[in-house]
Amino acid sequence: AIRLSQMTGWVSFTLMGIYANVGEIEDGIRTITPAHTLLDAPGAAPLEVSEGRIEFRDVGFAYGRESGGVEHIALDIRPGEKVGIVGASGAGKSTMVALLLRLYDAEKGGIFIDGQKVSEVTQESLRRQIGMVTQETAMFNRSALDNIRYGRPDATMEDVIAAAEKAEAHEFILGLQDHMGREGYEAHLGERGVKLSGGQRQRIALARAILKDAPILVLDEATSALDSEVEASIQSALERVMAGKTVLAVAHRLSTLSEMDRIIVLDHGHIVEQGTHDALLAQDGLYARYWNRQSGGFVNPEAEEAAE
Ligand code: ADP
Ligand code: MG
Repeated sequence: AIRLSQMTGWVSFTLMGIYANVGEIEDGIRTITPAHTLLDAPGAAPLEVSEGRIEFRDVGFAYGRESGGVEHIALDIRPGEKVGIVGASGAGKSTMVALLLRLYDAEKGGIFIDGQKVSEVTQESLRRQIGMVTQETAMFNRSALDNIRYGRPDATMEDVIAAAEKAEAHEFILGLQDHMGREGYEAHLGERGVKLSGGQRQRIALARAILKDAPILVLDEATSALDSEVEASIQSALERVMAGKTVLAVAHRLSTLSEMDRIIVLDHGHIVEQGTHDALLAQDGLYARYWNRQSGGFVNPEAEEAAE
């Protein structure tokens, strides 16, 4: 039962991160019923991550006959490499992340982690080895302590505090008080608890990921600035949590993009450009266009497209 509720929670908070704009998800406890529920393949073995290589081998996926998705995605992410995804709204960034997490199965090609196809390993082992940091991460209607410890259920209070400190979350957590008068790490979060700002949510998600210490990290950055006071501290905490891990990041911050080993530019479900930041600028294509229209420390092709 514990296992099931953890899975449910994981699916909810992940979907929350990816489909927050859909608006059907209200908290971290609610179970999302996707159009289909993927089962583990018969005889699925646990994923064994030895190096952390991620390969998209000619991956194709469509949500429906008329709707979008991704096509011919070929991407080999070396162990420890940090890859940023940039693209306009609807380009397929979240779809790539969803496919890696196996929220959907690729219809063409396959996604492999250290040679193992994600659709053929147990979902529990897949999700255990991928850390997620998003600003939309759902908070469960439980204490701040439990919300962070969710990253590693057997963690001690000391472990949780150490992770919160690294995520720059410790200070604000100490100042929390919920409507029942519970304070600090005992204060309850979620829709029936303390309302957190986007930056605070992101730091809780970061603390979770630090505690989880998974070899693969998925980052879905907010498209707009957080309160500038926390912006810089989150950035340095992110750099620390990315160190030594394979990272796939939907990136909007100039500071995150410049940290990436490689940037891929998605357009209408296709990879249209890829390379280092400098190489892409020299290429003077879509990435250069997004970069040159940056504002406030952010590349925001989503807003650009909307404005056109
Ligand atoms: P991005 O994250 O780059 O904004 P997405 O990966 O969310 O783009 O979406 C890629 C395409 O797939 C878009 O055309 C979008 O409308 C479509 N799409 C995304 N999610 C769904 C869904 N759940 N059902 C149907 N179409 C979807
Ligand atoms: Mg998206």
